[in-house]
Amino acid sequence: MELDFEKLGLKSGLEIHQQLDTGKLFCRCPSILREDKPDKIFHRYIRAVASELGEFDAAALEAAKKGTVCVYEAYSGTNCLVETDDEPVKPADKQALETVLKIALMANSKIIDEIITMRKAIADGSAISGFQRTALVAVGGSLELSNKTVGVQSIALEEDAARPMEKTEGKIVYRLDRLGIPLIEFATMPDLKSPEEVKECALKIGELLRRTCAVKRGLGTIRQDLNVSIAEGARVEIKGVQELEIIDEYVRREALRQSNLVRLKKELLEKGISEKNFSGQAVDLNGIFSNSECKFLKGKNVFGLRLEKCKGLLGRETQPGKRFGSELAAYVKAKTGLQGIIHSDELPNYGISEEEILKVREKLDCSEEDAFAFVSGQEEKAFAAIEIIKQRFSQALIGVPEETRNPLEGGNSEYSRPLPGAARMYPETDLAPIKTLQEELKKIEKSIPLTVEQRLALYKKHGLGEKLANEMKLNNYACFFEELLKRGFNATISATLLLENFTEMKRAGIPVENITDRMVIEILEAIRSGAITKEVLLSVAAEWAKNPEKSLSLIMQKFSIERASNEQVRQAIRKIIEKNSALVREKKLGAASALMGDIMKELKGKANGALINRVLQEELEKFS
Ligand SMILES: [Zn+2]
Repeated sequence: MELDFEKLGLKSGLEIHQQLDTGKLFCRCPSILREDKPDKIFHRYIRAVASELGEFDAAALEAAKKGTVCVYEAYSGTNCLVETDDEPVKPADKQALETVLKIALMANSKIIDEIITMRKAIADGSAISGFQRTALVAVGGSLELSNKTVGVQSIALEEDAARPMEKTEGKIVYRLDRLGIPLIEFATMPDLKSPEEVKECALKIGELLRRTCAVKRGLGTIRQDLNVSIAEGARVEIKGVQELEIIDEYVRREALRQSNLVRLKKELLEKGISEKNFSGQAVDLNGIFSNSECKFLKGKNVFGLRLEKCKGLLGRETQPGKRFGSELAAYVKAKTGLQGIIHSDELPNYGISEEEILKVREKLDCSEEDAFAFVSGQEEKAFAAIEIIKQRFSQALIGVPEETRNPLEGGNSEYSRPLPGAARMYPETDLAPIKTLQEELKKIEKSIPLTVEQRLALYKKHGLGEKLANEMKLNNYACFFEELLKRGFNATISATLLLENFTEMKRAGIPVENITDRMVIEILEAIRSGAITKEVLLSVAAEWAKNPEKSLSLIMQKFSIERASNEQVRQAIRKIIEKNSALVREKKLGAASALMGDIMKELKGKANGALINRVLQEELEKFS
């Protein structure tokens, strides 16, 4: 069913978090993720602490109630005392700050005179200190989409959280390698009115960020949070969407969920259902499932609740394949850690027999029109779960609850936690405010990257083919490549080295990251002067990457790349012509292309193509 989003009053805003390709934000450790075994492991528990205003944060309380233990993994080589929260932070990484200022200028956003780093309470344990540092850098601004202008709300510089590795009941394992990697947080106004607009806007922001050549690439380096509401619904935040490809589907399905919940509310009210209909007590269903065929209920403590006159309502669809019952289950799961609930609208199922269902109905005193729900678990948690079911049902009478949701595969989402309250930020006392100086901004303004269209035009002018140009236009090498063009290096050779040769080397496990910009320039200069040829470019670069401490001339010596004298070239060519004399007699000058392969092999890297060509022509003429 296609929804009419205009009629629904869909409103959506995007908040994009993109890792920057610089050092860590508040310490000088490298911002790299490691897959080898961490050598430091320690534990922490989440506790809720009142803010300066005496309030407890709802999200922190909920996390503390679960009593989860957080296990942290770190590396002594690439993590320091800042990441383990044992030492005050260092000043913000200069390149990260510059990148964010540049992006703010690109979005016509107003840069704050004094940038103040704040602490934002984080309750899930992913920030070991219990807070994430964030600094508002700019406010306002705009982005042009094909059919409209979208307002920019704010641009901030933040530190990334620790990396979740494993989640089991009562335990989360985090790795500190990701903690402190700089993130730009780019938030739009809720100006987007359709799923398609949200997608276009996300792509546009992605392009803007990538134009700087200073953002990380690949899986997990960008996360998008979606704010979605419909007129009769509520603000819901879907946090951490990774697949840009289906970002519109998340918006579509959230609008659908909200409109379905609105419809459910109307139905509940029409039926005269009120809180009284589910105000009963949790009932111990002990004994009913002692010999059950249902594996997860057999011999377990089970507690149930009657939902008067609610037959069929738990089975109402909210999203494709998701029912109102799934909403209740997600609340129970998030708030108690219990793995969900079972309700009458999904039975018979899971091996639960008709006889057991009848017994439950009897014990809960259910009539034909009533529904029921039950949970299995330790008594205290099960009672809490029953209370949560009642609360969520009460909310359904009011409408759509505001909340934070987790994206699920395919475009659905599920409840994760309440929307964060406003009382969560306070200043980071270990850092001085950063004054943004006009002269510095002017300097940054001069380094604003070209647009994609400008880039393609420039590359074309320098004779770069379409394939390489398209590959380069949003590549992290683009800015450096343009610097090389300014220095007059050949566009095709430069782009081939940066894109194709480097990729080939990476695939072969050669440490390309050892090749600095300075080294690239030296290699290109050597090509320009004829000291090395295109044919050995890849081998020379690879060898230098493995031995970056050596000089280029030393590397070239190892390859015994010496210029062959003209006479040597001629000798080599004569030898090959004689070897193929039959062919040359037959094809005369036309044999050149057939011989070229052998000649290049023989003279690999010792002479340039133009010389070889000239001598070959001369020798072929002489021979015939
Ligand atoms: Zn560090």
